[in-house]
Amino acid sequence: MAADYNSSTAAAKSRDGTVNAVLAGTGSLPAQVKWAVKQCKVTSDAEKLCSPLSIQEANSKKPDISLNLRTVADDLVSDLRLSARDAEQLTLKTRRKDQLNWNPIELIAEEMYEDQANPGKFLDLETLTIWLAGRAQQQYVRIDPLKIDAVLVTRVMSHEFAQRHQILALETKDDEVVVVSAQPYVHAWEATIEQSQPGKVLTRVIANPADIRRYTTEFYTMARSVNKATAAGLSSSSLTNLEQMLELGQIDQMEANDAHIVNIVDWLLNYAFTQRASDIHLEPRREKGRVRFRIDGVLHLVYELPSPVMTAVISRLKTLGRMDVAEKRRPQDGRLKTKTVEAHEVELRLSTLPTAHGEKMVMRIFDPDILLKSFEQLGLANDDYARWESMVGNPNGIVLVTGPTGSGKTTTLYTSLKHLATEDVNVCTIEDPIEMVEPSFNQMQVQHNINLNFADGVRALLRQDPDIIMVGEIRDLETAEMAIQAALTGHLVISTLHTNDAPSAITRLLELGVAPYLIKATVLGIMAQRLVRTLCNNCKHHGDPDPDGWKAVTSPWKMKMPLHMYHPVGCLDCRDTGYMGRQGIYELLPMTDTIKELLDDEAEIGKLRLAGMKEGMKTLRLSGALKVVNGETTIAEVLRVAPFSGTQ
Ligand SMILES: [Zn+2]
Repeated sequence: MAADYNSSTAAAKSRDGTVNAVLAGTGSLPAQVKWAVKQCKVTSDAEKLCSPLSIQEANSKKPDISLNLRTVADDLVSDLRLSARDAEQLTLKTRRKDQLNWNPIELIAEEMYEDQANPGKFLDLETLTIWLAGRAQQQYVRIDPLKIDAVLVTRVMSHEFAQRHQILALETKDDEVVVVSAQPYVHAWEATIEQSQPGKVLTRVIANPADIRRYTTEFYTMARSVNKATAAGLSSSSLTNLEQMLELGQIDQMEANDAHIVNIVDWLLNYAFTQRASDIHLEPRREKGRVRFRIDGVLHLVYELPSPVMTAVISRLKTLGRMDVAEKRRPQDGRLKTKTVEAHEVELRLSTLPTAHGEKMVMRIFDPDILLKSFEQLGLANDDYARWESMVGNPNGIVLVTGPTGSGKTTTLYTSLKHLATEDVNVCTIEDPIEMVEPSFNQMQVQHNINLNFADGVRALLRQDPDIIMVGEIRDLETAEMAIQAALTGHLVISTLHTNDAPSAITRLLELGVAPYLIKATVLGIMAQRLVRTLCNNCKHHGDPDPDGWKAVTSPWKMKMPLHMYHPVGCLDCRDTGYMGRQGIYELLPMTDTIKELLDDEAEIGKLRLAGMKEGMKTLRLSGALKVVNGETTIAEVLRVAPFSGTQ
């Protein structure tokens, strides 16, 4: 495979050389072509390469015109997108050295001129690219790296050829090859591609030139690493069985530290960060390993790696996460801190699992920006926000956050604690495991192997003069009792429970065996939560309301239906999902006197809920409905995540 790749590279270069020779002279093109053909007749091999190409060139008769700042600016003026004054000023500007290779539309985009056709909007690079595509009558694309098979498309042409012509293959099928360029009037490279891809139709598309440059480097680096790592893997398996057995440990070490593998790991991590992924899944399969990213709660297949490469990548990550590389039969976990290209610190939690086809790894990405939001960014409605703030502002008592795994409880806890952790307050946590290391907290991890559980942790923390204690989860009576003791002795305890909604948290505590009078004495309030995907601001559609959906989401309660609703559409920004990012919906139940009165050994969820709602609580679905009214999410999304909570 590697040999194939190289030979086509060489051929592309020589053919391209000829094209340049032909195009160097202007004027009588046919004569030049004849000359080129003649020159090629030196050897029969060269003839095969050169003559059909030259004829194609002669037939096409397309002159190559590179975009020029002056003419692009004039075209923008004549299309009423740019003012004549700005166009004039633009051409007078001096350029930086690093801008020499820039496409004129990049230079224009840097100025951020107002789009004369769309007041309030700017002529950014994407807008200019779309305009250019329209003008050149070529299809505009936004390069989505997740949809491109880098190893496959980089075989279409050499890296050097791609760089020289500032083009990149995006797709190659049996009968078509799609190549992107931001120079719609330059055709010099077309014949070479057509020649090296016999039987395929060449389709030209336009994308933003900065993306083309960036992905060209990324794809070729990635493909080279995978190819070389694969080649290395093949040679090691060609050893005899015995030798392989003997050297297995060393080969593992070597592969994991191999420069190509290091590149692939770096690339994967950076890729995941730029794609806003929350989890990276590395899944071995019989022949190929799959790489999947979870973005906004949905998994996307990103990449397939040859099995030996996947194994080496996982080994490398295990080394980085200080895990036992040799141990492959037992699940392990580890932790890794790294920086993004923008020098942004990110923490990853790694876990491995032995599967039928080898060791699988999942990396959860903890971006402090996502885990630690400002109070406002949690997305609480105004009245809920005030209630939550007063609840966690109490010097003693218990505040509970409930919801299933992945409902954003950790974000709420960390954000609230961070808000409370001032210089004069001692914030301690006992977690299983520590989700993210935060310098302003004193964090401790549950360790089952040495019998350090949540209850023991709280007991130890109480001797540490804490003000606020965060207990990762209350799942047994012992922990609940310790939390209550801490609250009764003048500490604020924040913890989580796994229940569907807020009222169920009370019945859950009763089921664990906590006496009603202790709940009344300590619990300040409960907040249930879920995450809904938020509509993509770039493409959401302002449309008619949906009465049936509205009924489904608000029943059995009554809430006025809005006159309009926003619907998901899908664009390149949100990879056709219609959604971008997520936000919490909340059900906040403060422990008021009315609720306390209802609290006895047989407290009914229905009655607690009804009483809560009279005191201003919104169910999860109603809280979601409010976000539908605000145009932030959709009915379908709320119904997907929030349970029905009517009167049973
Ligand atoms: Zn969109």
